[in-house]
Amino acid sequence: MSEFNIALSPGDGIGPEIVAGAVTVLDAVSKKYGHKFNYTEVYMGGCAIDKYGVPLPQETIDICKKSDSVLLGAVGGPKWDSQPSENRPEKGLLGIRKALELYSNLRPSILKPQLKDASPLKDEKLSNGLNVMVVRELTGGIYFGKRTKGEDWASDEEKYSVEEVKRIGKIAFETAMLRDKRVVSVDKANVLESSRLWRATMEEIAKDYPEVTLSHMYVDNAAMQLAINPAQFDVIVTSNIFGDILSDLSSAIAGSIGMLPSASLGATKCGMYEPIHGSAPDIAGQDIANPIATIVSAAMMLEMSFGLTEEAKAINNAVDKVLNENYRTCDIMSEGMIKTGCKKMAQLIAENI
Ligand code: NAD
Repeated sequence: MSEFNIALSPGDGIGPEIVAGAVTVLDAVSKKYGHKFNYTEVYMGGCAIDKYGVPLPQETIDICKKSDSVLLGAVGGPKWDSQPSENRPEKGLLGIRKALELYSNLRPSILKPQLKDASPLKDEKLSNGLNVMVVRELTGGIYFGKRTKGEDWASDEEKYSVEEVKRIGKIAFETAMLRDKRVVSVDKANVLESSRLWRATMEEIAKDYPEVTLSHMYVDNAAMQLAINPAQFDVIVTSNIFGDILSDLSSAIAGSIGMLPSASLGATKCGMYEPIHGSAPDIAGQDIANPIATIVSAAMMLEMSFGLTEEAKAINNAVDKVLNENYRTCDIMSEGMIKTGCKKMAQLIAENI
């Protein structure tokens, strides 16, 4: 038996409903496998503004830092739109990433055969499936580079150190070791000096992982390849800005926003796990949100931060089983399927653990 401390940050909108769904499933895992999950609820985003006047109270940072991982719902909503920019709910998210030094963002895009119709790609492009993990550098590059503005010009600096590339590269190769052992490093080395450093550093890291095949692709080609032959990819590793764009593209190909998880990892074992979607204020409080993205985010947490591979698999298998039995939330509903609420969907998945 193992014991883990999890900081729960339900956040705003549908956040509390979907996080409660994930807890229902984690409780089922704990019962079946005999682990102990200790939950501490923290405030972040709009709910923290309401309670403490700031989107990221120090108490939240302290609890997250002491935890083995953070499970997040989503933050934001129209209620806080009039807040000054430095006090908006999203500042809480950026602040916690920084505080926990979460320099890598992992986004798996898996197309479930049951939800093939939800993909914007034609069937023929999906005949070999889609199971790609985008590993995006999260705290460097152009989003954090020097910004300069003159009277009639502006510039943003794309800068990477070898150390920054090394640490994200290592995450990508370690991830590939748990998968199909193929890494595609995406850059623009034909134009950018920073990309040439990126590429050379990836080659260096590859020497430590002889079992992993490394190849390189220019970002424009990578976007095209994702759209025409997504099955060719296993792990994609790329910079902050390229990863931002490519991970949205790969998620879109996989279909519904309510299905996809993400992990942010960094300097410590404490990762942050969250669905890729937002707080969906339009459907909040109606028990119709899809909790699966948050539930499979919890599965990623078990596997990547706690090393509980079998337990993570049990969650993913339970999700598949419930989908095979034709249960669907509104966002993935189609003809002949059984319409299911958020709470019920989580219970069904928990029962199948
Ligand atoms: P959104 O992802 O919240 O919603 C987009 C659409 O998808 C909506 O129609 C919504 O109902 C639907 N949807 C989203 N998640 C769903 C789920 N689990 N089940 C069923 N349907 C779902 O994006 P948005 O509307 O652009 O943003 C709403 C708020 O969320 C904004 O305040 C935004 O800033 C915030 N946001 C937060 C995060 C985050 O916390 N990581 C990410 C994106 C957006």
